[in-house]
Amino acid sequence: MAITATKTSPYISKSKFLMGLQCPKLIWNVYNAKNLIPEPDATQEAAFAQGHQVGELAKQLYPGGIEVSTGTNDFDQVLQWSLEATKARKTLFEAGFAYGGGFARVDILSPAGKDAWDIIEVKSSTEVKDVNLLDLAFQVHVITGTGLKIRSCILAHISSDFVKSGTIDPHQFFVLEDVTSQISTLSRSIESKLDEMFGTIRLRQCPEIQIGPHCNNPYTCPLHDHCWGFLPEANVTTLYRGSAKGFKLLSKGTTALADIPDDFPLTDNQEIQRRTAQTGQPHIDKPAIKAFLSQLEYPVSYLDFETLGTAIPLFDGVRPYQQVPFQFSLHIVRSPGAEPEHHKFLAADANDPRPAFMRSLRDALPAEGSVVVYNASFELGRLKECSDLMPEFRPWVNSIKRRIVDLLLPFRGFRYYHPRQAGSASMKAVLPALTGKGYDHLDIQDGTTASLQFMRAMFGGISAGEQAAIRQQLDDYCHLDTFGMVRIVAALDSLVE
Ligand code: SF4
Repeated sequence: MAITATKTSPYISKSKFLMGLQCPKLIWNVYNAKNLIPEPDATQEAAFAQGHQVGELAKQLYPGGIEVSTGTNDFDQVLQWSLEATKARKTLFEAGFAYGGGFARVDILSPAGKDAWDIIEVKSSTEVKDVNLLDLAFQVHVITGTGLKIRSCILAHISSDFVKSGTIDPHQFFVLEDVTSQISTLSRSIESKLDEMFGTIRLRQCPEIQIGPHCNNPYTCPLHDHCWGFLPEANVTTLYRGSAKGFKLLSKGTTALADIPDDFPLTDNQEIQRRTAQTGQPHIDKPAIKAFLSQLEYPVSYLDFETLGTAIPLFDGVRPYQQVPFQFSLHIVRSPGAEPEHHKFLAADANDPRPAFMRSLRDALPAEGSVVVYNASFELGRLKECSDLMPEFRPWVNSIKRRIVDLLLPFRGFRYYHPRQAGSASMKAVLPALTGKGYDHLDIQDGTTASLQFMRAMFGGISAGEQAAIRQQLDDYCHLDTFGMVRIVAALDSLVE
């Protein structure tokens, strides 16, 4: 539950502290121009919900723990209840503490020895990141400031080796990593960092901070669109594999790709970006495109998967975050110039979709000819995982591997590049740039939304009518992923005729 600071001097919570570390401009705006901070979108909301589920599972590691602040968002009450609860010497969930302007809500606080505590921070990731340590150091600074003793600092993160088999055992699911020694060093720096942040928050004017790599590290800043909005469409931050060069150019006042000075060192692909930005015309390497197209053998099958990946696996035999395919679209062009024929699969219920997915695909996919995908490693990876689970499919999967043609390659290799791609070789950038038709008219426009909507349809307890609407939207989206590939190949063909 969100806590609202009620003091004239604002408290800095652990999430705001991390924002302050990322950028002074961000924390200033959080406290002085909150209206600029957008509400979380559906993807972020889903990530929060997933984090909450992981947190709930972690509580099972400490049976008998007390939920400290359930049922209130009154700041002072949370603090009072939490301090009182420490007297019981029981494990506490979500206890809240304040000290020196910092406010920390602790995932799990477990009594250790006679008068100390272990602090356990639960993370939905499969590894410890630097930002997790700073988060924990902030909590230790606040808690020890209130007079409590901390014995150990533990990060409970998800084990990447975990594979679901029946009911999930939290002891198998989590890795408890003792990071006490790192935290004791880091927590000494927290006080001065907090002082600095309060100084920033109290400034009358927003600090002038240039955009840079910090805007996406460790998280994409919520003010990203606001701060980056001044850049022209074809701007220097879109240089292919050239982030550092882009920011160097920005610092010298060059924002547009077309204005990059002639003597500025660029790679061949970046040079293509500069030239096409200046001319507005695409770069077309006809011999390379011809060679690419000459690999295609009919019937040509255009194939795309949609997948879901959750922190807590939904099905047996699945690892945390493993991508489980629930949908495919397949367009088959039997001979040059023939009308594409469409086949599709979309899981019917909330059971493991993989057996039916694999059977449907095996039935629909021609036994010969090329199989065109966009970013082959993704589809091949899913097929391999499915055949590991269902070895009867292995010979068939092996026979597909030899027939795969990756349509990403000519674009990633800049064999074709249109300035509207803005440095991206993704299907979402290439399709509209090359064919003039994109995803804008669809309700679902990307794979993440497809996954979230499928989960909503299957597990969200929505009406049959809403489910049917979502299934139609998923069909439309996945259909365009493969029909788009048909169009891209046709467009490439016409370029080299
Ligand atoms: S987008 Fe970048 S510069 Fe702007 S507030 Fe965020 S981190 Fe700071």
